[in-house]
Amino acid sequence: MQLSDLLADGAALEKVATGTIWAEGPVWLPERRAVRYSDIPNNRIVEFSEETGQLTVYNDEAEFTNGRTLDRDGAVIQCSHGRRAVERDDDGTVKTLVDSWRGVRLNSPNDVVVKSDGTIWFTDPPYGILRSVEGHPGIQEYRDSYVFRFDPTNGDIDPVVIDVETPNGLAFSPNEDLLYVADSSLAAPDPDKPARYSGHAIHAYDIFDGRYAKNGRIFAEVSPGLPDGFRVDVDGNIWTSSQDAVQVFAPDGALIGRIPVPEVIANLCFGGSDGRTLYITASTSLYRIRTTTRDATAR
Ligand code: MG
Repeated sequence: MQLSDLLADGAALEKVATGTIWAEGPVWLPERRAVRYSDIPNNRIVEFSEETGQLTVYNDEAEFTNGRTLDRDGAVIQCSHGRRAVERDDDGTVKTLVDSWRGVRLNSPNDVVVKSDGTIWFTDPPYGILRSVEGHPGIQEYRDSYVFRFDPTNGDIDPVVIDVETPNGLAFSPNEDLLYVADSSLAAPDPDKPARYSGHAIHAYDIFDGRYAKNGRIFAEVSPGLPDGFRVDVDGNIWTSSQDAVQVFAPDGALIGRIPVPEVIANLCFGGSDGRTLYITASTSLYRIRTTTRDATAR
C-alpha cells in the first residue's frame, strides 16, 4: 500500500475555513453536510458547510467542548472540558451522559468513540483543568488519567486503560478487536513529576469479550510533535495528526506516508457525501483532501 493509492487522483490539500485559535474535535454531520468542530480557546463550536463553503458559529457558550463523534442514531456525542463530562447534543439540546466515576469528577474528557454495541469509550486527560484557556482550572480528583467505557443503558462506567500517561485520541480497528489510544504526554510534561513518562506514541490493545482492553503495547511513535486525534479507515490504516503532517500507518505499524499540512494538527475526520474527504482541524484553519477510502465506522 502506498499513499498514492489512498489519495484520489490529483488530490491536493485545500484550506477551506480559517479564524479559529485551536481547532479540534471534528465530526461529519451527514444531514447538514457539514463538519462541526471545536474552537477550544474561543469556547465555541463552529460548522463548515460543504454546500455554502461558509463557516458559521453553532454555539458560542460551548463550555470548552473538545472531541466528538456520532451516536448510532446520528446524535452528536461530545466531550466538554468545562462540564468535565461526556454529553449528547441532540439538535441543540445538550444532556450530560457521564461526569463522574466512583463519586469523584472526571478530569476533562478529550475524545470519544461509540462502539457498535452502543457503549461510549472516551479519554480523560487533564488539559481542560490545567489552564483557563481550555476550561476551568481544577484538580484531578481521581489523581490520574484513564480511558473509560461508559454504558448508557445502565450508567456503568469502568476504566479500560490506565497505563497511558496522557490518553488523548482513540479509535477501534474495523472489527473492533483492537483499541488504539494516543499518548500526548510529551505536550505538557509535569515539572512536579520529572520521572513520569513523556510520550508521543499510539498504543494498541487487544479487546476481549467486547469490553476488556489488554496487552497494551506501542503501535507507532509519531513525530515530529505528537498524536492527538486520529481515525481508522476501512482497511485498518491509521490516519493521525502530528505537528506538521497527517501521517498514515498500516495496520502493522509501518508508516505509509505523510500529507504535509502548514499548521499544527489537532485532529481529523472523514466526511463529504461519499465519506471519502479527509477534513483536518489544524490550529487556525480547516483543511481537506480527497481520499479513496472511508472511516472504518462508515455505515
Ligand atoms: Mg484531543
